[in-house]
Amino acid sequence: MDDRAFRTAMGKFATGITVITTNIAGEAHGMTANAFMSVSLNPKLVLVSIGEKAKMLDKINQTGKFAVNILSEQQQDYSMYFAGQIKDERSIEFDWISEMPVIQDALANIVCTVHSKHIAGDHTLFIGEVTDIVIRDGEPLTFFEGKYGKIVTNQPT
Ligand code: FAD
Ligand code: NAD
Repeated sequence: MDDRAFRTAMGKFATGITVITTNIAGEAHGMTANAFMSVSLNPKLVLVSIGEKAKMLDKINQTGKFAVNILSEQQQDYSMYFAGQIKDERSIEFDWISEMPVIQDALANIVCTVHSKHIAGDHTLFIGEVTDIVIRDGEPLTFFEGKYGKIVTNQPT
């Protein structure tokens, strides 16, 4: 099967956008990801899928920790930047929770320790046990058919 058909089909599944963050020896690293899901309530587990070429993969393997930051509709710039789509180097100010860097003003910061991992093709699935959560009000950034968007709520006329 052709890669483009696969990506086009996967792109029909509308998602939010996260930036995954971690910390190695006091240095923060961030990476945009939409392959994220909630897994279990008891214990509280979430899953992220990290490509084999992403620098993030080695970093999570080393630290055994990561945070998932759910972006708001105002944060498309962060998504593009942490996907390497904006090339200029920036000095990013992170918030810190239990020595983990997290994205400021995200809708949620979800801090995890790696519970288990599974290599699947060219990605590694990390299941994280949630240790800390910060939640904020706001509307999400969305991704559908390879394009960013936002939620439009139908108002009764
Ligand atoms: P880099 O490519 O080196 O880092 C990304 C960018 O962030 C660089 O510009 C870097 O300079 C900057 N940066 C990182 N940390 C800091 C810091 N502390 N201070 C300042 N700048 C910093 N890939 C997946 O594996 N899984 C997914 O689920 C996934 N979903 C995606 C969804 C979307 C909508 C998009 C656009 C991309 C997605 N990707 C996903 C691709 C992934 O985001 C890119 O391949 C990314 O470049 C990989 O990051 P990296 O860890 O290799 O780090
Ligand atoms: P796209 O058309 O490449 O993506 C549409 C959908 O296809 C994504 O939402 C994702 O579900 C799937 N997809 C894309 N690349 C994938 C990959 N390498 N592995 C597994 N699933 C993948 O959209 P786009 O705007 O062209 O994406 C921008 C860049 O971000 C591309 O380089 C793409 O490969 C990358 N990306 C990677 C992943 C991932 O690794 N899981 C997810 C989304 C986007």
